[in-house]
Amino acid sequence: MSISAVSSREFYVGVDVGGSKVAVLVSDDQGREQGRYVAPTRLDSSRGTLEGIVDAIHTALRVAQADLEDVAAIGLGIPGRVEPEEGIVHLAVNLSWQNMPVGQILQEALGTPCWLENDVRAAALGLQRHPLYAQVQNLAYISIGTGISAGLILNGRLYRGAHGMAGEIGHMMMLRDGPRCQCGSRGCLEALASGPAIARRGEAILQTGVKTILSEWKPVTTRSVFQAAEAGDAIAQAILQEVGRYLGQALQQMVMAYDVEHIVLGGGVASAGASLLDYVLTDIKHQREASSLAKEMLQPEMFHMQPQNYEAGLWGAVVLAENGLHTMQPLTI
Ligand SMILES: [Zn+2]
Repeated sequence: MSISAVSSREFYVGVDVGGSKVAVLVSDDQGREQGRYVAPTRLDSSRGTLEGIVDAIHTALRVAQADLEDVAAIGLGIPGRVEPEEGIVHLAVNLSWQNMPVGQILQEALGTPCWLENDVRAAALGLQRHPLYAQVQNLAYISIGTGISAGLILNGRLYRGAHGMAGEIGHMMMLRDGPRCQCGSRGCLEALASGPAIARRGEAILQTGVKTILSEWKPVTTRSVFQAAEAGDAIAQAILQEVGRYLGQALQQMVMAYDVEHIVLGGGVASAGASLLDYVLTDIKHQREASSLAKEMLQPEMFHMQPQNYEAGLWGAVVLAENGLHTMQPLTI
């Protein structure tokens, strides 16, 4: 696809595909929102999920009073392992997609170029377009939810690594011989600080018979651990202090590995408990007190929660549509 071939088309469509909903945003060539639509994700079959996405795109275009002929390209953020160059989704567990040529199928159904990227990486691209981060060349977006992963912007571009696995920090080993992770290893960040890990920790402590208001919630959820901590429960606070320590350790490693200017936290756990950042910052403070290098490199103002009311994933999908593979590969001059 050459850019000049599509210059007469003035709309870009971004799609954030989630396990429960599909959000579509139609943007014009000035980056202004022209329409949007959100639909529940169809999970009846892998093809049904794709049909649901196509329907949602059509509806969003009707809202924007546009049609497919006006669309230059479509970008999609997918919760899974994606091969952007080939448009293949290797694995998206929540959508039951395995080695699906999603890009090709959608392109045939819609007659418009479709670009795919992992949803967390798409969100990192979306942050780059937010006024707070527009000038930032080195940034990490960390999604903390059922899993943990990062989208990395390095030297102003999305960094994917040799196998598209850059940013899979959920499987950085934090505690050798720690709890078992889904990947088969032990002590991964994801096994210690993800949403399910926090809930599991709460349940396990409850089983010991210790006195905690967590017993009022059955089963214990991530949100209930945050609620109990906010209500002053010392056990719930201790769980979150520990989570803050593991995340603080992971952020320190990110800063030391990549020298990023900002790290932005998002995802389900981050939105379940806004106090998560406080627990992380407490750990960062301890690291700064212990080392002059940490004091220099880990500035508290580097760490943010995702901007409220800003759909980074959805805007990142629009960026994908605008730039196609140029978001991933250095431009050749
Ligand atoms: Zn793992």
